[in-house]
Amino acid sequence: MIQERIKALAKRYSPEYIDIRHHLHANPELSYQEFETSAFVQARLKEMGIPFEIMAKTGVIGTIKGRNPEKSLIALRADMDALPIREENDIPYKSKKEGIMHACGHDVHTTILLGASRILKELAEDWDGTIRLIFQPGEERNPGGASLLIKEGVLDSPRPSAIFGLHVHPGLEIGKLSFRSGQVMASADELFFTIRGKGGHAAAPHTTVDTILVASHLIVALQQIISRNRNPLSPSVLSITSFQGGYTTNVIPSEVKLMGTFRSMDEAWRFKAHELIRKLSTELVGSMGAELDLHIDVGYPMVYNEEHLHAEAKQQAENYMGKNNVQETEIRMGSEDFGYYTQVIPGCFYRLGVMNEEKGIISGVHTPTFNIDESAIEIGMGMMAWLGVTVKS
Ligand SMILES: [Zn+2]
Ligand SMILES: [Zn+2]
Repeated sequence: MIQERIKALAKRYSPEYIDIRHHLHANPELSYQEFETSAFVQARLKEMGIPFEIMAKTGVIGTIKGRNPEKSLIALRADMDALPIREENDIPYKSKKEGIMHACGHDVHTTILLGASRILKELAEDWDGTIRLIFQPGEERNPGGASLLIKEGVLDSPRPSAIFGLHVHPGLEIGKLSFRSGQVMASADELFFTIRGKGGHAAAPHTTVDTILVASHLIVALQQIISRNRNPLSPSVLSITSFQGGYTTNVIPSEVKLMGTFRSMDEAWRFKAHELIRKLSTELVGSMGAELDLHIDVGYPMVYNEEHLHAEAKQQAENYMGKNNVQETEIRMGSEDFGYYTQVIPGCFYRLGVMNEEKGIISGVHTPTFNIDESAIEIGMGMMAWLGVTVKS
């Protein structure tokens, strides 16, 4: 049975792929600069005899054909970029690049997809259809590598019927996977406000337009956008995260800058909210005699797991892992550029448990001490290969 063969190969190859992960972990690269990582992935695919093309400079798109390659086309995705964080782990494979670290586990994702590719290629006589491998750049930074690849046609000619992606989850125990149907992660847009008034002596406020006061009113008013306009049953968040203005005690500054983030789980509400934010900000700031410049940097869309695909994938995951090891995951207001794929074709984004409390592996992603229980690599590569050949919706 193919499941046993996948499991056997995942077990056999996992030490080699743990070494590959160590190499990638020690040599992290920032978003859109994944040139060495891309070359490494290309070299591994070449060794396996898997043809590929390059998209968006560092993206690597491979193709593995099984029996009857026309029968189906499924895409499997991994991201390759690291973060501007200084690693604090004391490990032999610690980042060799000062201030850059694979703190989101994308080294693990790349390793897992390489491992799954090896398994799929080796068993190509045992499954039907074609698999498209997507090793993508720039998940951590706008505009998102996924959006660039989609513009370059990664989901075209022919169009895959489904796409799978996984993320390591340091809140989930090793040996477990988690899935969710429908809304999984939020859209994320960045807000940049500049409020211009009239600076002057703090002892003569009547001769100024006080930008500090205007900005303070604006922050409070913005909190009513969601609380008074959004259905409380649908999650949405607006946080102002930066307030920059003034430099001393006796001067009212002529300019204040605010920054923030807006997140939602509903594309229609998302763009309506942008309008509400713009209208409220412009009118409120104007009514106080100041001027507003507002830039909304539209980021990733929400991640949506298509219901049928999710049901089928979860069932196959239970089949592979045992029912007890597959859980329901909670909704999260973080964002992922996997959302771009799920806007075009049915997608399923699932989580791979990497936490091991006994070994002290508990740090969250995007922290300088993030790491994983590496037995997750065997599970991840087997699971990815298994989904690729069993889920055909
Ligand atoms: Zn991240
Ligand atoms: Zn990530």
